[in-house]
Parts: sequence; structure tokens; C-alpha cells
Amino acid sequence: MPPQPAPLPLRGQLLVRLVAGICGAGGLGLLTWALARQSMDPAMRLASAGAGLALVASAVLCWWLSLRLLAMHATARAAQDAAQRATNQLCATLDILPDGLAIYDADDRLVLCNPRYREVSPGTTMAVDYGTRFEDVLRRAAESGHIVAARQDTNAWLADRMARHRSPGQPEVQEVEGDRWMLITERLQEGGGMVVLRTDITDAVHKERALKQALHDAERAERSLREAVNAMPAGLDIYDEQDRLVLCNDQMARLRPHLPVAESLGKTYEELLREGLRYGIPEEATGQEELWLAHELAIRGHRPGPEVRHYPNGTWMHMHECRTPSGMTVCVRLDISDLIEQRQKVEAARQESQRMRQLLERAVEALPVGIEIFDEQDRLVLYNQQLSRMYPYIDYAEHLGKGFVDILRYSVSRGLIPSAKGREEAWIAERLSEHGSSTSTLVQRLSDGRWINIYETRTPENYVVAVRLDITNLIEQRQALEAAQQAAQQARQLLQDAVESLPEGFALFDAEDKLVVCNAQYRRLYPISAPMIVPGSTFEQIARYGAERGQYPDAVGNEEAWLAQRMADHRAANHAVLQRLPEGRWLQADERRTPQGGIAGVRTDVTQLVRKEQELAAANAKLALLSTTDGVTGIGNRRRFDERLATEWMRCGRHQLPLAVILIDIDHFKLYNDHYGHLAGDECLRRVAQLLQVTIRRADEVAARYGGEEFVLLLPDLPLPEAVTVAERCMASLREAALAHPRSPTAPYITASMGIASLVPRPGTSSDTLVHAADAALYRAKYGGRNRFEVFTPAQ
Ligand code: GH3
Ligand code: MG
Ligand code: MG
Repeated sequence: MPPQPAPLPLRGQLLVRLVAGICGAGGLGLLTWALARQSMDPAMRLASAGAGLALVASAVLCWWLSLRLLAMHATARAAQDAAQRATNQLCATLDILPDGLAIYDADDRLVLCNPRYREVSPGTTMAVDYGTRFEDVLRRAAESGHIVAARQDTNAWLADRMARHRSPGQPEVQEVEGDRWMLITERLQEGGGMVVLRTDITDAVHKERALKQALHDAERAERSLREAVNAMPAGLDIYDEQDRLVLCNDQMARLRPHLPVAESLGKTYEELLREGLRYGIPEEATGQEELWLAHELAIRGHRPGPEVRHYPNGTWMHMHECRTPSGMTVCVRLDISDLIEQRQKVEAARQESQRMRQLLERAVEALPVGIEIFDEQDRLVLYNQQLSRMYPYIDYAEHLGKGFVDILRYSVSRGLIPSAKGREEAWIAERLSEHGSSTSTLVQRLSDGRWINIYETRTPENYVVAVRLDITNLIEQRQALEAAQQAAQQARQLLQDAVESLPEGFALFDAEDKLVVCNAQYRRLYPISAPMIVPGSTFEQIARYGAERGQYPDAVGNEEAWLAQRMADHRAANHAVLQRLPEGRWLQADERRTPQGGIAGVRTDVTQLVRKEQELAAANAKLALLSTTDGVTGIGNRRRFDERLATEWMRCGRHQLPLAVILIDIDHFKLYNDHYGHLAGDECLRRVAQLLQVTIRRADEVAARYGGEEFVLLLPDLPLPEAVTVAERCMASLREAALAHPRSPTAPYITASMGIASLVPRPGTSSDTLVHAADAALYRAKYGGRNRFEVFTPAQ
């Protein structure tokens, strides 16, 4: 409680009455003095009198005032009592205020405060006494270090604080030692003074701080949550209790490209569905939109489980919907297109695998072999019907799942394997050791006489796949084949022996013209070609080898042409060919086609034969020459002329060429004989023949003795003028030879008369025509005087 002032009436009365006494006495004295001092300046006297009167009046007033104060005292007393009561009540009220309250007077001194004020004024070790100035209280608190803001620069803080204190505005918050917080509210009071309210808001600040932290944490959590939600590979929608969209992540927004997020938020699920349906989403709703929508809404919140939907853009969505305890609906959509695609691929692969497995099973069944497969523990896991048929006494269905050793024991115990008899356990051990190897093939004889080929292989999975093939027929065939081969071998040996015993060379070429067999004689006949004469060489290789190394003298220098001809003859294989070999040897190559398309060739050494033939031919040629040669003159005789005439007549007729004949008759030769004798006559005939022989130039021209002292020249392809030239040459030749004929009436030397004819043979005409024509011309020459020639003209 503030100190009580002295009772106002008593002091007032005393004061007022004292003042009234002083004023009354003084005033009367002054008035009296003034009135008494006549010498005084009137103005001074008047002033003094006035002052005295004033003082008197003041004394009267004071007296009145005293009375008045007395009256007021009673009133004030009552008021004071009331005020005291009010103050007491106020103090009591202040005491129970939770906030510190202080009232400072106009001098900023503390006039009133409640105990709480002292509690919340930290650092004020000195009691906050009434009358203490606000600034002192403040300074003490600041210097104590309790006020956090004042720690750095106490004076500055003080100045600043005092400035705000003097003209207070909004309440301010102050942090004090120990993380305590005060809210300072200052209000100027009317008539001066200030009410200072210090409220300890530490709890509130702490709460606010905690709230802010919580808010911050919440914001961060929300941000993190939103980021996490957006980072989700799935689309997320959250709907509130009224089924309005309140959150959707980016993924979900992308799934609704037709509807911006801003527009979709706040829309109900039904509205969003309708929007989607406008764009044909989902595909399954097409054509039955309302029905689909009704169904969707009906199961909203009660969806039995996740759904998979196919969207028009081809994507597959996994849709999950659940309702939270607070009534919100969370929808999650996950793009599982890749998953679906993979699943479809896996399904396709599975179906393919299934199909392949079926195919494989069918193939295994269709195989003409028995198949059995044992797993890594050697248990039978698969077999086909062929196997069952192959081993009818084994019930494979019963053995399925049983070990390979069990099947072996079953077979052995029933005597099905003859080779195991008497040594069953050893056989089983051997068989098992083979069974485990990577691959093995064995042939097993069964008790019923059949032969089974068993091929076993171990797969990378450590399974054993066994293939069993009944090869009884094969073995029988092989045995038959071996017998046949033996017989064939014997036959071949016989053939070989026969071939070798042949005096001729023999070679057999197959349809591909490769040497199959030949005897030693064949190689002996061709010593140069022998290295190539081996089975497998083709005829051409052998022939070429020989031709290039001088085996065939006729081929030297024109090997390719010779080879072409030889190959043609060989392929024709229809006539014998004579081959000249080195050292004057001759072979006859006789080749014939075999029924199998090959060529069998026989080579006979015909050297002796050829030599004899050649000698014979030479003799024949000589004989032929002699038979057409005139014995006296040595030039062609009449036969040669006739033969050549017939030939040339035909040839020139074919080619329509002129053929000329000059008949020459020695003039008066009888006289020559008579004069010189017959032998000299023969000699003359020889000289004339030689002269005529050298007259002809071409090989196809013939000079012959026609008979007696007559000669003839056959000139093919020679027109008449040129035949005339030949006749002239003959005449000149005789003239130049000047063979003396003293008894000739025509000239002292041998002369001749000549008849020339040249015709183009016509079909159906005889060569005699030409000779007759020449003869006619000769006749004319004789009778024309001799030593001349005449030309046959058709007009004759
Ligand atoms: P011309 O001028 O008319 O021809 O008179 P020529 O004497 O030559 O004719 P002729 O026919 O009368 O006589 C041919 C003679 O040729 C007769 C014969 O003695 C002779 N003569 C025929 N052949 C030979 C022969 O081989 N040797 C010899 N020395 N003379 C022969
Ligand atoms: Mg004659
Ligand atoms: Mg004559």
C-alpha cells in the first residue's frame, strides 16, 4: 500500500487560517500605514492601500476558504474513506493479478505495483520501492544481464527502451534470463503517469515456439511428403470425406492430361470420372458409360481389391483405392505397362515353351527309338512308349521315379541280359559306371536275341538322356553285308587276277571318269603317265599328265588340241584309236562304255603290227605308183591319166571349172625308129616325156604317156587360152631341145602335133567327150602339117 497523506482538513485549516491571519494582519497594517502616510506619494499610498485592502480581502477569502475546507474535509473524508476502500480493493485485486502491474506517476516514479510486478522484473535485486524511478528500475535490470537484448550495449538499449517507454505504442516482448519472456504493455494515463503491465508470457512463447517448430516441422514434413508423393512412380489422389479431390501428385496429374490440376482439385470423384469418360477413359467404359459410372460409384470405398485398367493411350494402370479411418479416400495408380508387357512376353514365352514341350513330347513319342531320361539323382523321370514296346517285360510306369540301378537289378534278376549271367553284381557295377560318364554308346544283346544300341549322354543339368535303338535288323543286315562284301572281295580279287593276267593293258573308269582299276600292264604301257595312273585320277588328268610330259609324240606342240581330240574319242568310246608312243611304239586304245556309264579301256601293243602295216602300205603305195607309171618314160601311164581324168572330170563338174587336155603325138616317129633303132626311139620317148613333165607346174596337173609315141597333159581348172599357153610352152621346149630327127619331113629335129580341148564338164557327160575333142584337134594338127597344135572348137 502507498503511504497515506496527512489528513487534508487539519493541515488545510491550519494553513488557511495561518494565511488568513497573516493576510488580515498584514493587510490591515498596510492599509493603516498607507492611510497614515499622507506624505507619501498618492500613487504609492493608493497602491499600498490597495495592497492592504487586497490582503484584507485575501484574509477574508482565506477564512472563507478555511470554512470551505472544513466543509470539504467532511466530504473529503467520506471520499477518502471510499477511496481507501477502493484502493484496498484495487490492491487486493492487483495482488491476485497474474501479471505484474505497476503505476508510475508523472515523474515516472513508482507509485503502485503488485507483488507480481516485482517477480517479473528480473535482476532488480533492489526492492522495487515506491518512488523509484522507472529508468532506475530499468537500468538495474539491464545491468544485471537478465535482459538478453541489453547484454551487448546496455546504454543503447536503455536509450532505445526509454524512448519507447516515453511514447509507448504496441506492447513489446522482452526476453529475460532463463529463456523467459515478458510482454510489456505500457499505457500513458490521462493526467500523466503510466501503467506498466509485465505479463510473463514464457509459457505462451514457449508454446508458440513449440507451435512454430511444430508448424515448421509440419510444413517440412508436408513438403517432404509432397516431394515424396511426387517422386512416387505411382499416381496418387486423396479425396476428402465429401469425396472431393484434395491432393494429387504429378504422376496422377499426368494421367489426367485433359484436366489441369488446378481445375481438378476440389472436384468430386464423380465429376472427375465424368471428365475422364468424355475423353474415353477408361477404355472398358466405352459404350456403357453410365452403367460403368454407376458401378464405379457404387463400389467407391468398397472396392474389393486392386484393379488393372487399360487406357486408350495403351498404358496399363494398376489401381488401388482405400479409405482412411478419417473418411478420406486414397487412390493409387501405378503405370504397369512395362510389367504387363513383360508379363505378356513371359506368358507368350511360357505358351511357346509349353508348345515346344508338347512338340518335344510328341517328337519324343514319334521317334523310332526308345527314350529314357534320368534326373541328377539317377531316377527315371521320363520315358516314351517306344521304350515300353522295346522292353515289354518292364513296367516303366511302375519304375517311374525309381533309380536306374533298380531297373538294372530288375532286368538282371529276370535274366534279361545274357552277358550279365553269373556276374550280375559286377555287370551292374560296370553298367552304372558307364551310365555316369558324359557320353557312352554300347550295344546290348537281350535274352530274346535282339540287339539294342544304347546311347547315353549327360546333360549340363546332370541328367542322363538315354536313347535305345533296336538294331537287330541292322546287325543282321551288317552280317549279310559283310558276307556280301567278302563275296564281292573275292569276286574283285578274281577280277583283279583276271585283269592282271591279261596280256593287254586294262583300265576301268567309273561314270565320273575316274580310274577304278587297272592292271600293271596298263601302267607299263604308259611309263611316263604311270605316276598319275592311280585309282581316283580322272582320264583327263592322266591324259593331260602324259601329254604335258611327252607321252604322246603327236601331242607335242599342240597339247590342248590333241587332248580335246583324245577326250572326244574317249567319250565317244565307240572306236579303236591308234596311239603313237615314244621310241616308235604303237598302241591301240579300244574303249567301250560299260552298262554303268563307265568306260572300260583295253590297250594293245600293236607296234609290230603297225610296223608291218606301214611296210605293207609303203609297198602298196609303191605298187600303186608303179601301176600308174610308164615303164619306158617314167612319167604317168595311161591308167594314171584315166584315173585322174575321171576324178578331175567329176571334181570340175561339181565346181563347174574348165578341164583341159592336150594330146601330143610325135611326128614321124616311125621314121625315127627306123633311123635310130628302137632303143634310141625309147630314149627319145624318155627325153620328150621329161620335157613335157617339166612343162607342167601345178601338182594337180598330170603328164602321162597315152600310148606309143603319144603323150597327154591333163590340166584341171585351166581355161582354153591358158591351155594354149601350155601347148606353146611344150612346142618351144621341143624346139629348144632340138632332138635330132634327120629323116623327119617336117623338121630336122623331133616335133610333135598337139590337140587342145578345154571343157566345163556337164552333168551326164563322159570324160571321153574331152579326150575325143582333143583327139579331133590332134587329127587336124596332123593333117594340118604337123609340128603345130590345134584347138578343139565345138563347131568342128
Ligand atoms: P606320124 O607323123 O603320122 O605320126 O607318123 P609316125 O610314124 O609317127 O606314125 P605311126 O603311127 O605310123 O608310127 C608310130 C610308130 O611309133 C610305130 C612304132 O614303131 C613306133 N613306136 C611305137 N611304140 C614304140 C616304142 O615303144 N618304142 C619305139 N622305139 N618305137 C615305138
Ligand atoms: Mg601315133
Ligand atoms: Mg606319130
